[in-house]
Amino acid sequence: MIMAYFEDLTPYKYMHRSIKPGLIQLNVGWLSRGKNYNQGLSTEAFKGKLFEFCQDYYVINITRGFHVCELCSISESNWYENKSRYGKDHYWLSIGDGEIRTIGDSVIYAAPTLIYHYVVDHRYMPPNEFIKSVLSGPVPGSPEHKAILAELDLG
Ligand SMILES: [Zn+2]
Repeated sequence: MIMAYFEDLTPYKYMHRSIKPGLIQLNVGWLSRGKNYNQGLSTEAFKGKLFEFCQDYYVINITRGFHVCELCSISESNWYENKSRYGKDHYWLSIGDGEIRTIGDSVIYAAPTLIYHYVVDHRYMPPNEFIKSVLSGPVPGSPEHKAILAELDLG
């Protein structure tokens, strides 16, 4: 599947059922080949927290197929075998088949699960306000985060 491209911090419009009046959602990490993106080295703390947001039970809008990384230029089967999974402790991450939400100051950030791969393998540096939402916003599994996921993923 081809990944949708959205510039960072533009209004989220990808999945209609996840658009709610009064809830501001901004795109983060919808990268695409041929589009410039901000690069830099992320801290281990940020990568660790981002990993938690990308675990299956906090992922919404899971698609039937999965998106491969356009920046890697590999086939879907190779992607699935080699690039879509990350292990940390005893957890495994399945990357490329859904979206995450993080909670900032009066806005929600909407990112594809691929964002973890972009940060770890392509030195993608997301906007500061997104990093802040990951590091100090409501954590996955908290009542605030659960409520947002429930509201956005009714299908
Ligand atoms: Zn890649």
